[in-house]
Order: sequence, then C-alpha cells, then structure tokens
Amino acid sequence: MQSIEANGYSIFFNEIGYERINQIIDENKYSSIFIIVDEHTNEFCLTKLLPNLAVEIPIEIIEIEAGEVVKNITTCVEIWSILSDLSADRKSLIINLGGGVITDIGGFVASTFKRGIDFINIPTTLLGMVDASIGGKNGVDLGNLKNQIGVINVPKLLLIDTNFLETLPQKEMRSGLAEMLKHGLIFDKNYWNQFLDLKTLNFEDLDQLIYRSVEIKNEIVKQDPTENGIRKALNFGHTLGHAIESHFLESSSPLLHGEAIAIGMVLESFISKEKKLISNTDYLEIKNTICNIFDKHQFSENDIKSILELMIHDKKNEYGKVQFALLNGIGKTTINQEIDNKLIINSFEDYKN
Ligand code: NAD
Repeated sequence: MQSIEANGYSIFFNEIGYERINQIIDENKYSSIFIIVDEHTNEFCLTKLLPNLAVEIPIEIIEIEAGEVVKNITTCVEIWSILSDLSADRKSLIINLGGGVITDIGGFVASTFKRGIDFINIPTTLLGMVDASIGGKNGVDLGNLKNQIGVINVPKLLLIDTNFLETLPQKEMRSGLAEMLKHGLIFDKNYWNQFLDLKTLNFEDLDQLIYRSVEIKNEIVKQDPTENGIRKALNFGHTLGHAIESHFLESSSPLLHGEAIAIGMVLESFISKEKKLISNTDYLEIKNTICNIFDKHQFSENDIKSILELMIHDKKNEYGKVQFALLNGIGKTTINQEIDNKLIINSFEDYKN
C-alpha cells in the first residue's frame, strides 16, 4: 500500500514501515530507544515489533497499565521519571506501541520531555490506526474531563501494521469501527455506504477500509492542522460522545471511546435532522446502521443532567458556548452550531425508542 504524506511526516503501511523506521533511527543517530507499551501491547505486540528493529542502540521498555483511567498527568510523571532515571537525553527516541491511550500519552510525554524529543507512533488498535495516532493531537485527561491537557505535535513517522489487529478483542474492533463510520458520514457518502451491510464485508476488505479512513482523517487535518475550521468536522458525534464517555468513565461499566462516540453520532444526527440539515430517511439509516452494530445504552434523567454539565468543559467550546459539528447531508458537515439543551434532551428521548 502506498504511503500517505501528512503534515511533516509520512504514514507507512506494513513491512515498508519497518524499513523506514530503521532508516530514520540510523539517519538521526539516536542515543537510545524507549518503547512505551501497556500490559496488553507488551504481551501481544512487542514480540512482533522487536525482531523488525535492526538497531544496535539500547532499547528500554516502559510498561504502563492499560485503559483510559491511566491517561492522566500522574502516569506522565511516572514515565518522565523513568526516562530521567534511565538517562534518556535529547537524542533519545520514543516509540509508542499501543492504542489511542498509549499514543496520546506517549506523544505528550515525548513532546514535553526535555522540551521535546522525537517519537514514532505504531498504533495497535483499529481506533488508533484510523484516528488517534493521526493528526498530532497528544494529551491526557484532567480528572474525568477528556483530553484537557495536551499539545499538537507530530511524530517522525506513523506505521500502520494491520497484523497487530489479530489479537485485538472484538469489542475494541467495534470501537474503532465507530470512527470509520464517522469518516464516511462527515466526508464520503460512498465510504459510508460500504458499511450499510456489514455482513457483505470480509477481513480482506479491512485493509482497504482502514486505508481510506486514514486518507480521510489525514486530508482533513492537512487542511486545518490547528483546528480553526474544517478539522472541527472530525468532532461530529464527539461533543455529546466525549461527555458520555466522561460521565461513565469511573462507573462500574465504563464505555469504550468508540462506543460513546457511536451514541454521540446517533444523538447528533437526530439534532442535524431537527435542524433540517439531513432528511428523516438519512437519519433513520444512520440510527439503524449504528444501533445494529452497537448495543443500546440506558440513560437515566440524572445521567443526562450530568452529561449536559460535562459538555460545558468540551475543548471545542468558544466564549463559554458549546459548539457542535453537525451533518449537512451524509458526507458533509457544518461546524460551530449552537444547540438548545431542549433539543439535546429530545435527542436522548428519541435514542431510547
Ligand atoms: P486503548 O489504547 O485503551 O486500547 C484498547 C485496549 O486494547 C487496551 O486494553 C489495550 O491494552 C488493548 N490493545 C491494544 N492493542 C492491542 C492488540 N493489538 N491486541 C490486544 N489488545 C490490544 O484504546 P483505543 O480505543 O485504542 O484509544 C482510545 C483513546 O484514544 C481515548 O483516550 C481517546 O480519547 C483517544 N483518541 C485520541 C485521538 C487523537 O486525535 N489524539 C482521536 C481519537 C481517540
């Protein structure tokens, strides 16, 4: 598969990516390599990566716990301290091997350690491949508020090796699918149409679907790296989705990122329909397709109240106003939309039915 040019780095697919990584390590004369993993990517992915690294400099592994609950500044302090104890210097390289949690934390740690050292992203989840590792957003949560602390900074290289997906649990695959559906909904109706009947898809189609998803995300980010305009379209489903994810983060049954975004997309499609931006037929197609893939979630009145409050902290808010990216037909979006709470409450009512 052809590599894809991003803003200031390239995205490589499968074997060729490992060759490029070895070249980059050689050309940049790094002093040492630190691979950040979580407990699962240490077990399932590291053994696939290490034989492909043809380097003679020291390699250290830094393992953190898995999951969103560790995506916070305490974990960053732990990693910075390990780097420091192991004498990492400005010529050290960090390789982030994991899902969105690892690339978000690892990118942030690398961007801030000694005012910034180089990093490479190797996403190992579907969500990481099609979304989290692309576009330069790195950072951590603040309490249960998502992604409040962070920087925009790009990796030296991004390698997508779909072989890592062999060990990824089904639930996590579905979570990544949510962002692929979003890419179709906001940017490419033909791409969306391919997901209408998942039974017709097989594993061989997956590589191509991932490739197109990466192209879409990259295309949008390239046009607007710092999110002043078109990049906000990527937030479709996320204004409510992030608040839903935050609300359930510390509950006994937290939602995966993609699961929360899937619900957010149904709710925000309802709002798009009520604003006469999409037809009722389009809305029902979106709702049915998403609800066929993702289990329905129950929301009490208190849940909805707390979700509305959490929305106030959304990163996209400007001048204290909550801003939505809504669909403007399937495959198109309109950004900076202010929405009454009443309409949001109605969207939860409709989701229930
Ligand atoms: P994750 O990183 O928590 O990974 C999900 C689970 O899969 C973890 O338990 C992990 O250990 C395990 N895992 C990873 N790779 C595996 C493999 N190959 N085999 C077996 N198990 C494996 O979650 P995620 O869904 O990848 O990412 C979610 C995060 O991404 C959220 O924090 C979200 O905010 C962030 N995100 C960031 C951006 C961005 O632009 N920076 C965009 C979207 C999402």
